[in-house]
Amino acid sequence: MTTPPTMLQRLYLMQVVTRFIPAIGYGNVVCYLIETNDGKHILIDSGQPEDSADAPGMPPSEHERDVIAQLADLGLRPADIDILICTHFDVDHAGHHDAFPQAELIVQRAHYAVARSGHPRYVAARAHWDHPSLRYRLVEGDTEVLPGLTLIETSGHAPGHQSVLLRLPQTGPVLLAIDAVALRRLFTPERQKWPLDDDEQQLRASTQKLLDVVEREQVALVIFGHDAAQWQTLRKVPKYYE
Ligand SMILES: [Zn+2]
Repeated sequence: MTTPPTMLQRLYLMQVVTRFIPAIGYGNVVCYLIETNDGKHILIDSGQPEDSADAPGMPPSEHERDVIAQLADLGLRPADIDILICTHFDVDHAGHHDAFPQAELIVQRAHYAVARSGHPRYVAARAHWDHPSLRYRLVEGDTEVLPGLTLIETSGHAPGHQSVLLRLPQTGPVLLAIDAVALRRLFTPERQKWPLDDDEQQLRASTQKLLDVVEREQVALVIFGHDAAQWQTLRKVPKYYE
């Protein structure tokens, strides 16, 4: 008897924080969970830490149940997470990485290097993502993690930022743009850089790259990184896409 190949089965969407993001207004901070047919669990980002300070003069973040509590709602402990995909180490994406020492953490080598070098942007959550107990796998460029699950290098918002393309049995291909494209209205190659973005030329190239992915792969659903209006239209935990 041969074992059937690993296939992605479900995608869960979890909102963990509502946060005031300059240029966006209130945006949703989210994590994603993928389940496979053979019982693997892949988490994408881990949300914002409770100990993070909001920028001076900014309205406070509203914390909802954190990623660990929301995984528990699904009957999962942190040790059940096999892989943690780290899109980048901004404070709203890497705030609970240290809860997952049993997982393999996957990040782009270029991003890891810039953050480890002490870049001030990634200091806010550093205690959470740069913990000695964490096992990192450093990848370079577009990388297939599992059949139907591919990381897409999308620098520009941050060096070595990565988006995620996944293939679900019924929904079809889903693109998680993360912060390469935070809002639907920014999904155009003519866009301009925001203060939080690192490099306008790369940002535009990455946007074009994702537009090409959508066309080539016939993506059925693109989920933008912090689009509160789109979020209202999506299926959230405990519901899922399959
Ligand atoms: Zn973000």
